[in-house]
Amino acid sequence: MRELSVYYCSKCGYYAYFQLPKNAVCRHCDIPLTRLDMSHRDFTNLSYEARDRLITLKIIEAAPTLAKRITAPEKLYQQRKLVGALTQQIMDMDAENKKLNETLGWMHATIWDELKKKQALKEEIQKLKSLLAEATQRQA
Ligand SMILES: [Zn+2]
Repeated sequence: MRELSVYYCSKCGYYAYFQLPKNAVCRHCDIPLTRLDMSHRDFTNLSYEARDRLITLKIIEAAPTLAKRITAPEKLYQQRKLVGALTQQIMDMDAENKKLNETLGWMHATIWDELKKKQALKEEIQKLKSLLAEATQRQA
């Protein structure tokens, strides 16, 4: 039995597997399909996304004027995705920053509170010391 070959339509991107080249005709465009220089096994091992990308590349390679038309929206789309991802990242960083500032604010408050307590304690000790001094003076 002859091995299956991968064929694709350079007009619409349709692809199919055929044993005989004479059967390789696009069912949508009714034109002969182009044989892909890759074994059927290797091709079917690819993900559907990778297959689409490969055939898209093949079509673009075959028609340079088409390349501009196809890659331009693709680039735009990628930029849109990039802008979306970056915006999300900035929002995440803003949220993180806010959290950090809140933590810092809380830490400041806590430290300030501790300092005030320490100061109060110091003053209390001072007062006790002077009271003690007064008491010893009176006793003497
Ligand atoms: Zn076609």
